[in-house]
Amino acid sequence: LGIPQIPPTLAPRRVSRQLKLGHDDRAVLVGGGAPVSVQSMTTTVTADVNATLQQIAELTASGCQIVRVAVPSADDAEALPQIARKSQIPVIADIHFQPRYVFAAIDAGCAAVRVNPGNIKEFDDKVAEIAKAAADAQVPIRIGVNAGSLDKRLLAKHGSATPDALVESALWECSLFEEHGFRDIKISVKHHDPVVMVSAYRKLAAACDYPLHLGVTEAGPFFQGTVKSSVAFGVLLAEGIGDTIRVSLSAPPAEEAKVGIAILESLNLRQRRLEIVSCPSCGRAQVDVYKLAEEVTAGLDGLEVPLRVAVMGCVVNGPGEARDADLGVASGNGKGQIFVKGKVVATVPESKIVETLIDEAMRLAEEAGDE
Ligand code: SF4
Repeated sequence: LGIPQIPPTLAPRRVSRQLKLGHDDRAVLVGGGAPVSVQSMTTTVTADVNATLQQIAELTASGCQIVRVAVPSADDAEALPQIARKSQIPVIADIHFQPRYVFAAIDAGCAAVRVNPGNIKEFDDKVAEIAKAAADAQVPIRIGVNAGSLDKRLLAKHGSATPDALVESALWECSLFEEHGFRDIKISVKHHDPVVMVSAYRKLAAACDYPLHLGVTEAGPFFQGTVKSSVAFGVLLAEGIGDTIRVSLSAPPAEEAKVGIAILESLNLRQRRLEIVSCPSCGRAQVDVYKLAEEVTAGLDGLEVPLRVAVMGCVVNGPGEARDADLGVASGNGKGQIFVKGKVVATVPESKIVETLIDEAMRLAEEAGDE
């Protein structure tokens, strides 16, 4: 049997409509072949403008590209103009049940609104008005279906929040806007179970051409949420499904954004920045690999240029990996052989390994910045 010829690439991206979130130089394109974007949601009271803008600034610094803010009260709606104006990244207003806040968000200059027209269907004329206001202002709308708040009619029909129930709900919500000629829509169908979520998105991807916002809802604390989201997003993105992602964690929003970025980098959907190739250590290790890897990671945190740094515990795989990386160390006998671009440039005592690696990394980053 020969080795099958399978190219190491992901499936082509699903063809979706393109939306533009925002109208100025902060605008982000979603769908239609645009790079997959990372978003998160603030945890501050939106009406506390300073705290919300501070958190948005932290999110922006972490690499987040789109931010969502909750708008549960009139005070929050009143804060939107200032937040939309001062935020460095497009702001999406997240609204449930309150049509008047949707109009406020559009007037405030928000880049998009998350609203489920099913929540306001009893005011059918309001759906028409929202569609018109959003179309006039060129403000896209996200329809976000969540397993936890699935329409009772569909719960009764399907018995639980199955993939079919989530998709039927999303497409029905879309149809309420489509009746009024509005199609600047993106959709999410979130479930806490990655298997159900993956199935729902696959079905949705086949059933429409709207851009899709991926999310595993209520994914849990940092570790569990990261694993669930990474697995689910990895499956879907490898199949070309997904235009924007939000990792939901019971953790600070900047952590969500960092995980989202790392997922995209892992799939080569975004250029990798710092990548640490470190071995897991074993009985052959002649240095404390964990400590070395942690210190090098901390020392290079925030480095913007792409750099692969190998931190290896012994001479078995050490020289190979270190030679292959931009920069690396192969340790042994209390010493570290430092490699830069495949060549040994120094052999230093163990106590100097971290310092030497960081110095060399900074030098390489400077050189890359000058290019
Ligand atoms: Fe063990 Fe050496 Fe491999 Fe690290 S590089 S896991 S120490 S054999």
